[in-house]
Amino acid sequence: MANVIGRARRTAEDPVGEKLAGPLHAVDAAVGRPALESHEDVPALCGAYVQVVPVEDVPDDTGLCPACQHGS
Ligand SMILES: [Zn+2]
Repeated sequence: MANVIGRARRTAEDPVGEKLAGPLHAVDAAVGRPALESHEDVPALCGAYVQVVPVEDVPDDTGLCPACQHGS
């Protein structure tokens, strides 16, 4: 069970918003913890590149993407 959460970085096609938006992705802790410090994008379990965010910043009602939810 991954305990590090990431979200896809906003792109030009993705409307700018301040709030975190789903889906979120699960990131392997070994990869995600260093990225939390370095702010580098890392691959989530499903392969999407995401920006790691602190778990406390993630709304409780936000789900993981289907691939990450069932992955690993
Ligand atoms: Zn995912």
